[in-house]
Amino acid sequence: MSNTAEKHSFQAEVGQLLDIVTHSLYTDKEIFVRELVSNAADALEKLRHLQLTEKEIFDDSLALEINITTDDTAGTITIQDFGIGMTRTELVENIGTIAHSGSKAFVEALKTAQERGEDTKAASLSLIGQFGVGFYSVFMVAETTSVYTHSWRSDGEHLLWTSTGKGSYEIVPTEGQRRGCKIVVKLKPEEKEFSQAERVKEILNRYSKFVPFPINLNGERINTVQALWLRSKNEIKDEEYTEFYKFQANAFDEPRLRLHFSADAPLAINALLFVPQENTERFGFGRVDPGVSLYCKKILIEAKPDYLLPEWLRFLKGVVDSADLPLNISRETMQDSALMQKLNKVITGRVLKLFEEEAEKRPDTYAEFYKNFGVYIKEGVATDYANRDKLAKLLRFESSLTEAGKTTSLAEYVTRLKEGTAEIYFLHGPSRAVIESGPYLEAFKARSIEVLYLYDAIDEYVMQHLGSFDGKKLISADSSDAKLEDVSKDSAGEALPEAEATGLCTWIKELLGERATSVKTSTRLVDSPAVALNSDRFLTPAMRKMMKSMRQDVSENPAVALELNAKHPLIKQLSALRSRDDALAKLVTEQLFDNALIAAGLVDDPRTMVNRVYSLLEKVSK
Ligand code: ADP
Repeated sequence: MSNTAEKHSFQAEVGQLLDIVTHSLYTDKEIFVRELVSNAADALEKLRHLQLTEKEIFDDSLALEINITTDDTAGTITIQDFGIGMTRTELVENIGTIAHSGSKAFVEALKTAQERGEDTKAASLSLIGQFGVGFYSVFMVAETTSVYTHSWRSDGEHLLWTSTGKGSYEIVPTEGQRRGCKIVVKLKPEEKEFSQAERVKEILNRYSKFVPFPINLNGERINTVQALWLRSKNEIKDEEYTEFYKFQANAFDEPRLRLHFSADAPLAINALLFVPQENTERFGFGRVDPGVSLYCKKILIEAKPDYLLPEWLRFLKGVVDSADLPLNISRETMQDSALMQKLNKVITGRVLKLFEEEAEKRPDTYAEFYKNFGVYIKEGVATDYANRDKLAKLLRFESSLTEAGKTTSLAEYVTRLKEGTAEIYFLHGPSRAVIESGPYLEAFKARSIEVLYLYDAIDEYVMQHLGSFDGKKLISADSSDAKLEDVSKDSAGEALPEAEATGLCTWIKELLGERATSVKTSTRLVDSPAVALNSDRFLTPAMRKMMKSMRQDVSENPAVALELNAKHPLIKQLSALRSRDDALAKLVTEQLFDNALIAAGLVDDPRTMVNRVYSLLEKVSK
């Protein structure tokens, strides 16, 4: 232990962060109060937990509360909590480096924005809004910040951490500290408003109403500790819900959906859950951490645990309170307990019901929700076996029968099925236009069969996992599993005689060898001369692409079945060409095959065919 002052440099990233925080023209400077109070509340919460297991706690008689004092003559605001405090090492680790959630996500997102070449100033402003930058936000308003602290450990030191937020900080031993942290903020001259009691009171009312510990401002109690989720629905105003959401999720937006319910059986539950406005995973900010905290009769059991709800529900924010939970039980026991599984089941069921109701009663709201959060529903279909059927009902896709931009559910698709049909068809492609100009759809159009359009890379994977819906098999329209009935179309003209067609197929199969699993004529085609059908049910074109992009080994020759349109002029001419000019017939066949592969999304490097196309051009321009 050292008795002298220690000077430390901030970790480089903290330096950058502070630079952004102090120099950005961030208008909501007042949020530093909220950030410090929220840290104070976290420290108190942690202490409350330690009290359950630790016998020796420094200053154990202190009340679990937050005391804020303002001094407008000195130009200071002081925020003191009797929480867990920090040791010397913790001071260095926690407020000298970036090891914690909010600021880390912020810096990472900022790096991404920088890499994309975005204006970092604009990006940092919007990012601060989304993440908050915790403790460091104090430097928006502080000339110097002093953190007086004593850890809850009885062998801890009395310490003072000070910094002006410019590159370095200092830690010196001091005396007579109470347990917890006392943060004295000496305000910049232009930020003196935050040393006025009225102004601070207004801020606390705005952001810190739901802090579950008493907050005193200059000795006067200003919050009533309330557990909104335990109150009855009809007493609560929308604004209160929104304020609570912002507090609980540390968010700045308005919630998109809300679910407040209580149940008595099979468990006593009070839950208040929210779906946020934005899905930050969509913007590439990394995986969202679970956001629902677990309480027992207003006492926090664990903040945002990862075992309370299925993973695909990690975007939810809020609180689940169950009076049936034991208070001091270890995380491990809790995680595996039958009780937790029951809780998980009941809540997930309610959330699914909420989504179903939205979809039914407010399709537009649901469509907006689905646009942002649909990816979680899909993840659920693929991973949450117990809820798969319910989740499948929530899926939405465009189809050959919907307008562009409008979607259908699988259930609606089924209602439109012709009697006796037991298949649901889908096609994957990057866009509606690409799917509609490909060779696969025409066969289904000619037979008036609806085809779902899948645009996301994971959609096919989801369909594979689902397998069927309402007893109808889900089949990719470009697979050889898609068996279509014959339709004779008058306008299509005469087909190649059967013997000739068979001869042609055998000849092509010989030429292509392993590259095609089979070559035959088909009745599915209307306008295209040939089509490559994927005969590997699991390794679909989209999957191949995904695996290749992850540098996984996939065979260079995908398993495809080639089908020819015996009525197409090109095929008829090719058959005749065979006896006239074998070499040219081979060139044409190779190109025909490659064209079919391109349409199937199976050609990685079209450059290989450039030379062949030149040879063909040479021959036709002779
Ligand atoms: P976050 O709260 O997102 O973790 P902060 O920058 O606000 O980020 O705080 C960094 C860390 O410093 C916290 O995780 C906590 O460990 C520590 N800390 C901050 N304030 C306090 C406090 N009042 N008492 C104890 N520890 C604190």
